[in-house]
Amino acid sequence: MKSRRVRSIVKVPGTSSPEIRDIPVPQLEEDEVLVRITQVGFTRRDRLVMQLDERSLPEVSDFLVMGHIAAGRVAETGSMVKDFEPGDLVVPTVRRDCEHCIDARSDMCVHLDLSTNCGINGSHGFAREFMVEKPRYLVKVPPELEEFATLITPLSVAEKAHMELIETRQRYNFFCYHDEDKVIPNTLITGLGPVGILTTMLTSLYGYRLTVFGRREADDKRSGIFEHMDLEYINTTRISTEGLEERGHRFRQIFETTGDPGYIMKILPLMDANAVSVLMAIPETEPEEHQTNLQTARLLRNLVEKNQIILGSLKSGRDAFESAVIHLEEIVNTYEEQLKQIITHRIPFDDFEELFKLDSREAILPVLVFD
Ligand SMILES: [Zn+2]
Repeated sequence: MKSRRVRSIVKVPGTSSPEIRDIPVPQLEEDEVLVRITQVGFTRRDRLVMQLDERSLPEVSDFLVMGHIAAGRVAETGSMVKDFEPGDLVVPTVRRDCEHCIDARSDMCVHLDLSTNCGINGSHGFAREFMVEKPRYLVKVPPELEEFATLITPLSVAEKAHMELIETRQRYNFFCYHDEDKVIPNTLITGLGPVGILTTMLTSLYGYRLTVFGRREADDKRSGIFEHMDLEYINTTRISTEGLEERGHRFRQIFETTGDPGYIMKILPLMDANAVSVLMAIPETEPEEHQTNLQTARLLRNLVEKNQIILGSLKSGRDAFESAVIHLEEIVNTYEEQLKQIITHRIPFDDFEELFKLDSREAILPVLVFD
């Protein structure tokens, strides 16, 4: 393909809204794959790109191509590429590492200054008609999963958090007979974004006893997804976490996806002895200082007294994407109707501006569809 130009959705720092821009597609090298993007999913993380500043731009670029969730079809492969063929359905991973990291764990690259995240900071995203990519950053997806392919990226975040938690849990592979109930770990998931919902579906495959905390009524579009699932949904705007703590609600495993520091401080006291909490979203605002000091002291005391672990888990590497593909097939078998409710909108590329007008309470994972 001669230096062709394609349409992309970009954000320029300082401008109020995203715009369409023609960008060049680089010449395909022998170890690269040309991908025709077919779907791009937009989440709250993408809306935060609206506040983009110069520091988050890719090198030698005055704009950022948006979109960190996508699926596409392989259009052409370089002569050295073995694992992909034209027509393959693929999903790109998000993190681009320092170029020396182990393939499967680019999400754990220690060089935070050298690694970048497509469509978020330092590397262009996927809201463009074609892109050239290294095979190590592409994951093959069975064609029957095409409708749900944009769920693989948020599901991979759940996969990584769950795998990290399982590994951490190896430290106590025993159960106390005094408390047979706890052989099945009580598991809490907080937050009703795509990652929270998919973490709930993933962990339900493991047979954990599930509780979901959200800040919506039980008949809301988001919480309604759980209606026919075997779990307890609690609207924490109606029932206080302090009250739940007093009534003995305790969790062995917590998956926190809100990133709200004040909320996190209320949730962590619900950790049981030996519990592991995985924080999966970056806390964005500072909690009130006065309250924090008291809560932190108590939290730290619990942490030591009850042998607890709080662990951070962000993004996901290739291995997490690959298990997301396997588990998505299982989730489709069990929760196909619920999965359809996560993808709330399908918007043609030409109407991309509609995406940014959607009410975030209604739009869980809107998807831009390329023709
Ligand atoms: Zn690295």
